[in-house]
Amino acid sequence: MRTHESYLRKKARASRKDSEGLGSRQIKCPRCHHDIAIAYDNLVSGNLELYCTVCHSWQNINFGRYKLGEKN
Ligand SMILES: [Zn+2]
Repeated sequence: MRTHESYLRKKARASRKDSEGLGSRQIKCPRCHHDIAIAYDNLVSGNLELYCTVCHSWQNINFGRYKLGEKN
């Protein structure tokens, strides 16, 4: 169990390091416009289901539709 936790921590640390120097943008909840995620420039497509803690709903986000510099 400890080995698995240390593996997960290593992955999280490596992911954080990979995002260094990248631009980022806020992804807003389509329902209430609360910021629900931060997307980095290397994330260009794909869908993700995100939970909004304000309106308590799951929102399906297609990152290809939320390009850098565009209002969402
Ligand atoms: Zn919301």
